[in-house]
Amino acid sequence: MSSNIRLEKTCQHCSKNFIAKTTVTQFCSDNCAKRAYKDRIRSKKIEVAIQKEFEQKPFNPIVTQKEFLSVKETCQLIGASRWTIYRLIDGGTLKASKLGSRTIIARNEINNLFK
Ligand SMILES: [Zn+2]
Repeated sequence: MSSNIRLEKTCQHCSKNFIAKTTVTQFCSDNCAKRAYKDRIRSKKIEVAIQKEFEQKPFNPIVTQKEFLSVKETCQLIGASRWTIYRLIDGGTLKASKLGSRTIIARNEINNLFK
């Protein structure tokens, strides 16, 4: 990259304007580059932590409070596959209603499965 290029850029870390010698320079100084790198590592860690939390809570907790659930929500609630749910419905073990193209299962009926 030619060092004759002089570009006015804004530092990605401290937002200060500076003159960059290359088009790929993102930071005004080594310090900012280092700090931005640390920030990136930190946000990556946070991202992983959020991801882990999400994995532990695979569904919106609101699902447990709903009176009527979709097949997908029913799967999440009882931890069964779609196939299992449809098999229970087809076999008449689990009562479901059709609402247009959607299959709706009353929470009550899910609870009845365990009685
Ligand atoms: Zn800076």
